[in-house]
Amino acid sequence: MTDEYIAKRIDINGIVQGVGFRPFIFQLAASHDLKGEVANTASGVTILLEGPTDRIAAFQADLPRKQPPLAHITQITEQGVTLSGFETFAIAPSKDDASRATLISPDVSICKDCLQELLDPQDRRYGYPFINCTNCGPRYTIIDDIPYDRPKTSMRSFKMCPQCQAEYDEPLDRRFHAQPNACGVCGPQVALFDAGKKKIQASDPIKGVADLLKQGHIVAVKGLGGFHLAVDATNAEAVVRLRQRKHREEKPLALMSYDLEQVRQYALVSLEDEALLISVQRPIVLLTKKEPHPIAAGVSPHNRYFGVMLPYTPLHYLLLKHGFTALVMTSGNVSEEPITIDNDDAFERLADIADYFLVHNREIYLRSDDSIVRHVAATRFIRRSRGYVPIPVFLKEPVKSILGCGAELKNTVCLTKGRNAFVSQHVGDLENLATYEFFQLTIDHLKRILDIEPELIAYDLHPDYLSTRYATVQKGVKTIGVQHHHAHIVSCMAENQVDEPVIGLAFDGTGYGTDGNVWGGEILVTEMERFERVAHMAYIPMPGSAAAIKEPWRMAVSYLFNAYGEDLWQLDLALLQRIEKKKTLIMMEMIQKNLNCPLTSSLGRLFDGVAALIGLRDTVAFEGQAAMELEMLATDSDESVYAYHWTDGVVCQIDSSPIIRGVVDDLANKIPGPVISAKFHATLVKLFVELCQDIRRTHGLGGVALSGGVFQNARLLGGLLHALEQNGFDVYTHKLVPANDGGIALGQAVIADAAG
Ligand code: ZN
Ligand code: ZN
Ligand code: FE
Repeated sequence: MTDEYIAKRIDINGIVQGVGFRPFIFQLAASHDLKGEVANTASGVTILLEGPTDRIAAFQADLPRKQPPLAHITQITEQGVTLSGFETFAIAPSKDDASRATLISPDVSICKDCLQELLDPQDRRYGYPFINCTNCGPRYTIIDDIPYDRPKTSMRSFKMCPQCQAEYDEPLDRRFHAQPNACGVCGPQVALFDAGKKKIQASDPIKGVADLLKQGHIVAVKGLGGFHLAVDATNAEAVVRLRQRKHREEKPLALMSYDLEQVRQYALVSLEDEALLISVQRPIVLLTKKEPHPIAAGVSPHNRYFGVMLPYTPLHYLLLKHGFTALVMTSGNVSEEPITIDNDDAFERLADIADYFLVHNREIYLRSDDSIVRHVAATRFIRRSRGYVPIPVFLKEPVKSILGCGAELKNTVCLTKGRNAFVSQHVGDLENLATYEFFQLTIDHLKRILDIEPELIAYDLHPDYLSTRYATVQKGVKTIGVQHHHAHIVSCMAENQVDEPVIGLAFDGTGYGTDGNVWGGEILVTEMERFERVAHMAYIPMPGSAAAIKEPWRMAVSYLFNAYGEDLWQLDLALLQRIEKKKTLIMMEMIQKNLNCPLTSSLGRLFDGVAALIGLRDTVAFEGQAAMELEMLATDSDESVYAYHWTDGVVCQIDSSPIIRGVVDDLANKIPGPVISAKFHATLVKLFVELCQDIRRTHGLGGVALSGGVFQNARLLGGLLHALEQNGFDVYTHKLVPANDGGIALGQAVIADAAG
């Protein structure tokens, strides 16, 4: 009987409060002609439904498909209940303590409805740069504490006008309980200043900024999660000036364009890229450059890609509509410091960079950088921040309340509670005091708004990381040190809800090993609470330690010396002619006498070394630059490989020498760099697939997890994923958190739960 009249209770967990969920349920129930009620509860939303079985089933089928854009359902449970005889469907008052456990939504882009109002001269919010509703606008960055209500946000200083208040109070209005609701009468306003902090009178400050940008000026623009520095991306001189003033030599600068049509003028946009660009999260998406293009060469030098995003705030739309192909919109900070969020701080710290400042009086409580993604068979995070945080990673099993402190570079932290793991926004490189302060602030803030008091704190084994120091001085709470690459692999396992042992391929630049050496080319048979190192790249000296990371030519010499010994002088190599003989000799002496030469098994360093051998670059401006350029250099076609070899034993050691000799021979035979790069990548794929097959035989494991910063390399990730699957492996990769050290904190927390 499908038309039997029944009653059902449906409980929904996730981000379902403050996102227009109850009005949505109200309307959905009405459309299916069902009776009952919906209410906010401590754990989410509860629905009581009464009606014929088939109509209830239709309602349940529609619910996840039609849910509001900001809702994020983690779990739906249902049970049959006795009929209460509801005569209508109603939005019931919130149950006790309802807002305590509310999950807070990320900040997302302006919705279609608000955009339409923004551009409609007849609308009362026409041209108002802070328009928002329950389906869009700021959340995470303006919240100071829970429960999530206006007085706990930076909107507390703006009292709603009667019209806004009426919208806010009406359950069927798009702005019902939209905490940041505002209009030009009652809400925040923008203002334009010059670098001397003198206010510039303008009837339309945003139009004023557009004019200044067209004249080539640099303008600091206050956004959602922090300040951007903006210049016209087609103005080469302005781009050069921005780089000089920001002391940012070569890292690509992000672009923002009004719409896809503008983006297509300078970049290739696949269907997957398009979906990412227009998604409500509005990340920066890496897109292949189109040649020729009108963008200044200085925007993304030595790079095949542009990082591009579409506007995500009303203010961006109002600015971009003044006819720019693209604006550079790079983080408003001084070199490696955190992005500026405060007006006064901006006037101070950005005074030497920006010519003008477009500020507003809605405070940003928590900074959140733009997220960066790339499509490689799925969405891959390079940086997970604005738009995604604080959506939790949903774990397979409940865990204790734990804080994972992350590593050093690209730091994020992670707090867990039940089955939710909350990975923070991008904190940055913990190498200066300002970033360390932001790290502490982020932990305190997350603890408060998520209502989590950790019973365990997990940290990286590296004794000198600031994150480690933070953890080890905390009083009254148990702390657990976690090996870096173990954390990488478990991070990947956790987001894929895998708890069986796997073969973990942890490839990155640097991580402190249990033997005190610098690991980074590791194959670990991994379980949640332990790992066994079954293979790694054979150790190689890093002459000058950190200097060898900044100067890949040092690594090239080290690999050559390892492969050829003193015979390296017989080689006909451009590198050895380019680098002063005296300097090469010093490297060799340092290695022989073991002076400041830590040993490393890092695969990232092998990429650096090969890049230097090919002549791509001898020094880098940022970590991973040489490896990135080596990837971009590769041709699409070549399938041949270099010889490779590993020594058997309890722990296999993968010898880099045959690969280095192959590269050197090709260079002597004038084989072009793009072919050498393609062969190098193909060699690694073949080598690691074979090694995984060996380990499958000896350990009886069929799952492989790929993690670590080297997997930002699309060619290696795509190649290994494909080849391993072809060979019958279950392959787990990162789709929710970055493969780089931005994902470490998640792994640390999950390991601490298993081990603690
Ligand atoms: Zn909206
Ligand atoms: Zn108003
Ligand atoms: Fe790492």
